[in-house]
Amino acid sequence: MKNANDSALRQRAARTIPNGMYGHMAIGPRMPAGYPQFFSRAEGARLWDADGREYIDYVCSYGPMIVGYGNPRVDARAAAQRAAMDIGNGPTETIVELAERLVGMVLHADWAVFSKNGNDATTTCIMAARAYAGKSKVLVANGAYHGSQPWANRRAPGAPAGEHDAFPTYDYNDAANVEQAARASADDLAGIMVSAFRHDAGYHQELVDPQFAATVRRLCDELDAALILDDVRAGFRLSLDASWSLLGIRPDLSAWGKALANGEALAATLGSDRYRDAMASVFVTGSYWYQAAPMAAALETLEILTEEDAPTRLEALGERLRQGIDEIAELHQQRVRQSGPPQMPTIMFEDDAKGERGSAFCSALIERGVYFHPWHNMFLSLAHTEADIDRTLDAVDAAMKTL
Ligand code: PMP
Repeated sequence: MKNANDSALRQRAARTIPNGMYGHMAIGPRMPAGYPQFFSRAEGARLWDADGREYIDYVCSYGPMIVGYGNPRVDARAAAQRAAMDIGNGPTETIVELAERLVGMVLHADWAVFSKNGNDATTTCIMAARAYAGKSKVLVANGAYHGSQPWANRRAPGAPAGEHDAFPTYDYNDAANVEQAARASADDLAGIMVSAFRHDAGYHQELVDPQFAATVRRLCDELDAALILDDVRAGFRLSLDASWSLLGIRPDLSAWGKALANGEALAATLGSDRYRDAMASVFVTGSYWYQAAPMAAALETLEILTEEDAPTRLEALGERLRQGIDEIAELHQQRVRQSGPPQMPTIMFEDDAKGERGSAFCSALIERGVYFHPWHNMFLSLAHTEADIDRTLDAVDAAMKTL
């Protein structure tokens, strides 16, 4: 059996891990047939599953991998730091160096606070916004993802009743709607949280409408509320500054994670001077929030991203993939819709409400050594090459023949 190890691991996991696996990495019924649950090796832009099958990876660990799995420069710098010191009774110089580096790169930022996961950073933003304003409500977009902690998680049980009263919603890219929502909460409004663009899983992506973004900035200025940019997923793929800098709009607070340290556990909250004292007044911490090795990894990752002008390079690779897929789809008379920035494509089919065609397509690609996601945005990395894209396009052509 070609997936014998994966099957055995699934059976073992089912005994000691609820549901066999949890969260976004659970290969539940929504993932196409043939998708592996377990992996054994990663290098560059390649993953090997628990049965040794090799894939060109377009999910990149859902974002963290940006300069290649096992990138030698990043790994060497992290290893050197780890050998010297990772955690202790206080942080190392690395935390200051990284804060300086980020404040130098991200225009709106005058200070940085580090943590581990993206949700730590989005939560820290909310605490800083509330501490500054002495108010409690933060608007969030309907359907947007900011983490799995109860305040951010509306999907399932686990949150106390009333938890989400402090998080009224608005519709992303709808200027009139966000204005109405902000005015309805104006008396108690601490902030408005936005994603870099609309990248909700399961939907075609939508780039941010500049008029919507300008409205959010104007509302925050008028109501003295924080504009909080959640750049956890998009950070450093669209810009080496905050993603909304492409529109000329500066957030007050921003949340970062994922690609920041190329897969080492690290997140960051960045903020402007106006929020410095408020941030200083909030107690935030975690046993591992000061780890120096991931910070060393981040310094090297940021170095590489800058040297290689990552956003431009990733856009070019993503464009090559996008154009190739469009041409192949036309040849096979398949109505594919590719959405979002080329660096972070979502690829789904038109007239495929149940996702059956998308599933069949992805199953056919998995068979051919290409790991696509059927309904979540994907990611390009600096480890992908033109040759990888062209091999992928050959697989896309073969997969579409099977539909
Ligand atoms: N915000 C966004 C936009 C995300 O995509 C994610 C993770 N998918 C998070 C926040 C939460 O990050 P983490 O899973 O690292 O807590």
